[in-house]
Amino acid sequence: MDILKERILKEASVINAGVLKLDSLLNHGVDPQLTMEMGKEFAARFSGENITKVITVESSGIPVAFATALVLGVPLVFARRKKTLLGEPDAYCERVPSFTKGIVTDLIVSRHLLSADDSVLFIDDIIANGDAARGLIRIIEQSGAKLKGIGIVLEKSFQAGGRTLRDLGYRVETLVRIQSLDDNTITFADE
Ligand code: 5GP
Repeated sequence: MDILKERILKEASVINAGVLKLDSLLNHGVDPQLTMEMGKEFAARFSGENITKVITVESSGIPVAFATALVLGVPLVFARRKKTLLGEPDAYCERVPSFTKGIVTDLIVSRHLLSADDSVLFIDDIIANGDAARGLIRIIEQSGAKLKGIGIVLEKSFQAGGRTLRDLGYRVETLVRIQSLDDNTITFADE
């Protein structure tokens, strides 16, 4: 998605060879128009899949997942992150490491929000090692819902997450792929 690449080059900064700061677009601020374009793109790519629900993880996945759900005309569910499993008997819970925070958090989805009748599209902001994605996939599978695909705004393809999910057989669509952040420089992968 060329417009997104342009904005990344203009607005992102490289924290180190593994981490990109993209606060103005994905992780702290939101450009509603650009976010709607992302949602339209995901909705178009998965239009043939009869999606009944979009799912994401709070908080950075929510805007683009909302935009996708709006265009597809289906509800959105977001997994909440919690530090304790206590008192959540009616929820699916999965513990995952957090890439940016260096801690583990629990992903929680209330059981009544996902059912075996659902065909789910999982949307997220960035994929690095894929831990958050694998945690959410375990939740979707426990619910019996069908995972029809995964849409990620930004894949850092030098980290293993996207590749691992494709190797497991999931359809993974990304809007932008970054192949390196070495030497303080953003290098996009050839699309
Ligand atoms: P993973 O579980 O795939 O290792 O990491 C996924 C989550 O960590 C994403 O949802 C994203 O919020 C955060 N994350 C991963 N890499 C980056 C990065 O380079 N920059 C920022 N700002 N967040 C990241």
